[in-house]
Amino acid sequence: MPFTLEIITPGRVVLHDDQTDFIQVRGKEGELGVLPGHTPLFTALADDLMIVRSHGDREDIVTVMGGFMDVRPDRVTILSPAAELAAEIDEVRARQAAERAQLEIDRQRTAEAEGALERALVRLRAVESVGREAIRPSRVHGAEQIPPDIRGK
Ligand code: ATP
Repeated sequence: MPFTLEIITPGRVVLHDDQTDFIQVRGKEGELGVLPGHTPLFTALADDLMIVRSHGDREDIVTVMGGFMDVRPDRVTILSPAAELAAEIDEVRARQAAERAQLEIDRQRTAEAEGALERALVRLRAVESVGREAIRPSRVHGAEQIPPDIRGK
């Protein structure tokens, strides 16, 4: 029996699907795969890509920028400050955000700039992953992931 997945941000319901077969997310305490009938749990999420398998053979990539996940046997609810389906991501905006954040970090390393860079890099990875067959969320985050064309000088 598939389960219901809901991904909610302050602005909208990003995803609501009652035919979800599997999700993989990165929790603050590590990577987590959820199948139907999972033991109830409540966990904080990291900024990362999330894999959603549904309707038997569908696979989607969703970016989730932190927040919380409530897992029950028949339902998973994610409440996040920002989340996007990969296809919704504006690549140019993400590149500009990464560039801005990197310049800021070069000037002065702040948690805010590091967070902005991390979000932009997650979005760029999601854009890249569209159309690929196998996607593995990376555990590595940092400036080394910036594509060479936007790396700070
Ligand atoms: P930016 O500096 O481009 O606004 P940000 O990381 O500061 O990026 P967030 O605070 O994470 O942006 O998100 C603000 C809102 O904008 C959220 O609704 C988020 O889904 C959306 N958003 C941010 N970046 C993008 C993008 N590249 N494509 C589509 N939506 C985006």
